[in-house]
Amino acid sequence: MNSESNGMANLKPVYNSKITCPVCDKNIEVTKVRSKSIRLIAQDEDFCPYYEECNPIYYEAWICSFCGYAAHNSVFEDASFMDRKLVNEKITPKWSSRSFTGERDIEQALDAFKIVLYNLVIRQAPSFEFARVCLRIAWLYRYKGDADEEKRFLRYAYDYYQKAYSNEPLGGGKMDEYSCIYIIGELARRLGEPEEALSWFERIISAAGQPEKKQKILPRLLENTREQIQMVRQAMQTGKRSV
Ligand SMILES: [Zn+2]
Repeated sequence: MNSESNGMANLKPVYNSKITCPVCDKNIEVTKVRSKSIRLIAQDEDFCPYYEECNPIYYEAWICSFCGYAAHNSVFEDASFMDRKLVNEKITPKWSSRSFTGERDIEQALDAFKIVLYNLVIRQAPSFEFARVCLRIAWLYRYKGDADEEKRFLRYAYDYYQKAYSNEPLGGGKMDEYSCIYIIGELARRLGEPEEALSWFERIISAAGQPEKKQKILPRLLENTREQIQMVRQAMQTGKRSV
């Protein structure tokens, strides 16, 4: 195909890509966002991103249209023997085949993430997986302006990140220890629990006082932590309990 006659401006921001479902072994298509279409313009303190054009968060929930297996795109191909068994026994028999490819609006993105969430429940997935998916569902509700649902899912994310932090190894390139502490603190702040928020943020400040730990903390994370501590203290002084 000639790239000039097919000018970049005419390309859709998303495209379909073929992969093999790790549960039913069928060839399936998933929709990805072209990297040229991803332009981050802002980010909230809990890492909720805002994009100029296409929001790649909408496309992070991958679903097999044949068997109903669904997961966050970063771990989709990691289904274990137990995951396969549970999907085969408990999801596929009730699943009616439908397509999830192509451009997604916010409602379709929410639907897709809720199918992932249902999969996590059936597969008894690690808390970290629940936390990540619940945080993204909360962000989708924030984009929609639905504050009640946003808060409900922020609360789930808060609980699951705490469980993940105390019970699960955080390595594997998923999230470093201090980012996890920071996000727990920030979720506490957003949920109107300033004392809890401070106690989590102060763990980072205290670790930053020890050279061997400080090198593991991203400079920007430390800067954000200091800003958030200021914000929580100011809010406590003015008697405001949450954002
Ligand atoms: Zn499948």
